[in-house]
Amino acid sequence: MPVYSGSCVCRRIEYELRLDSPDDARTSLCHCRNCKKAFGTNYGLTAKVPKDAFCLLKGEPKEHAADNGSGAVVHREFCDHCGSFILEYGEAAKEHSRYICVGSLDDPEALPPKGEFFCKERASWMPEVPNVFHKREIKQ
Ligand SMILES: [Zn+2]
Ligand SMILES: [Zn+2]
Repeated sequence: MPVYSGSCVCRRIEYELRLDSPDDARTSLCHCRNCKKAFGTNYGLTAKVPKDAFCLLKGEPKEHAADNGSGAVVHREFCDHCGSFILEYGEAAKEHSRYICVGSLDDPEALPPKGEFFCKERASWMPEVPNVFHKREIKQ
């Protein structure tokens, strides 16, 4: 069973992803406006995992929940001490999935992307990731 550890910058929050297989993680980029804001950069990078794969070892993330601009409520969890963004999930995915911020993994290269969403909002200077799927809109 592959286990991936992660944390916020200050390490008050530590977690593990416990997957049956690396294929249970679906990493993707999202170029939508809401992800740009939430991540504070030009795209969001998350790994979709089964809800129960996320095991919090230490700390208690702070949650922010709000409409993402398209009528869907998105929950975002972050460290209220250092501000690191840890995970998010839409209301519809609440019972079954978590979207882990890949940069919070101790080895962020462990789960490379399989696709890109909202490519129509890609920053003009950013090239496509090769050999993955590309969707102009929609997420998941
Ligand atoms: Zn922290
Ligand atoms: Zn997005």
